[in-house]
Amino acid sequence: MLLAHCRGCHNTFAGINSFDIHRLDESVPEDQNNTCWEPESMGLVLTPDGIYGTIEEIEKRQIVAERLGKARAARGNAKS
Ligand SMILES: [Zn+2]
Repeated sequence: MLLAHCRGCHNTFAGINSFDIHRLDESVPEDQNNTCWEPESMGLVLTPDGIYGTIEEIEKRQIVAERLGKARAARGNAKS
């Protein structure tokens, strides 16, 4: 699963969209790509495992995690 770790603020992001969002404030052109913004102030959500993402990215991660869980459960049942 794709994760983006920022060398600037050491936060981890669920994808390139949320990474770009925390690095970019279009209302401050001189700061573009030079500043790490507080992820929550940019509308990003923090997951229980410490990853910031957009709502879309977090939902996608949850869907993938559920599918992986079901696949593991199915394999476990097949063995027993
Ligand atoms: Zn950063």
